Amino acid sequence: MRIPYLSLQKVTAQHQDEIEAAVKQVIESGWYLQGEATRRFENDYARFIGTQCCVGCGNGLDALTLIFRAYKELGKLRNGDEVIVPANTYIASILSITENGLKPVLVEPRIDTLELDYSQLETHLSDRTRAVLLVHLYGRCAMTQQVADFCHRRHLLLIEDNAQAHGCMYGGRRTGSFGDAAAHSFYPGKNLGALGDAGAITTDDASLADLCRALGNYGSSRKYVFPYKGRNSRMDEIQAAVLSVKLRYLDTDNRRRWQIATYYAQHISNPKITLPGAEAWMCGDVNHVFHIFPVLCACRNELQEYLKQKGIGTMIHYPIPPHQQECYPEWHSLSLPITERIHREELSIPCNQTMTDEEVRYVVDVINRFEK
Ligand SMILES: *Cc1c(COP(=O)(O)O)cnc(C)c1O
Repeated sequence: MRIPYLSLQKVTAQHQDEIEAAVKQVIESGWYLQGEATRRFENDYARFIGTQCCVGCGNGLDALTLIFRAYKELGKLRNGDEVIVPANTYIASILSITENGLKPVLVEPRIDTLELDYSQLETHLSDRTRAVLLVHLYGRCAMTQQVADFCHRRHLLLIEDNAQAHGCMYGGRRTGSFGDAAAHSFYPGKNLGALGDAGAITTDDASLADLCRALGNYGSSRKYVFPYKGRNSRMDEIQAAVLSVKLRYLDTDNRRRWQIATYYAQHISNPKITLPGAEAWMCGDVNHVFHIFPVLCACRNELQEYLKQKGIGTMIHYPIPPHQQECYPEWHSLSLPITERIHREELSIPCNQTMTDEEVRYVVDVINRFEK
């Protein structure tokens, strides 16, 4: 059997007719930017997430960057202000902070959840701390009462990076509706993916939304008038039309991911492999949309090679932590042992709505027979 990590061809094929019809309609309309399809998707997605506003933009990194930039324009953030962020996030979360002249404060995750270790928030606080960038990494909701209380008590902005957790719920609300603002990526491989790059910002703050929209439109909200030095980052009509189709199936797709993840958690029994956080989400304490199904294994590279031999595609999220990247030499002396261990031991196994029951059983059988 051959099981790719993720076949985007199969993902698209599930709704190909509807997607093609939506794309054709845009092509024939002759209107390709800032039109009806984008407005419709923004409304659909705001309603889905449960926020007052949604602003489409070019990609997830731009969504994050525009939020921080807007808070700087509003005077709520200044150069050199500190933003608390999980040390094991994807680099884009951190790029959006440094791009704006702000200072990321890297906080270790917990090894049993792979999410931010809330008990370390207070010790990382300084008189320059102004915001927390909460990342729902791998699709697992990272929002807790503890985070809400911490931000409230310290008057910090709470910004969510929801690039991996579209549709995830906590206490009856969707991730992306908890903070002051949230960034979403529709990179093709995400749970809600476009046929190219796209992103969005959600918020209840209409003036923040207007500002983000202007900043993503050269700094202008009125033609040829430029109050800000902006950039060009807009969602295009074709992507918006595709996303409106795919949004209708997101909850169903996420339920299938949940089924597969539950099967993995109940049947993967190889003592060399741990499934971080499985107890919590299995008993419903935490919600999870399994953008990524991470396993930890001390001999990760051997496991990956073994699965490859058996026809099973895997990925590593991520092989090098941000503080060891070449672009951040200032952090090379930092020691973040939990983050470093995750980057050494993490392996992502296939978990998506295109998989058949037979494929899921095959993955489990093969993993359980791994020995080294
Ligand atoms: C994918 C991703 C981003 C960036 O989104 P793009 O659309 O690829 O720019 C940001 N943060 C996280 C956590 C991501 O996984």
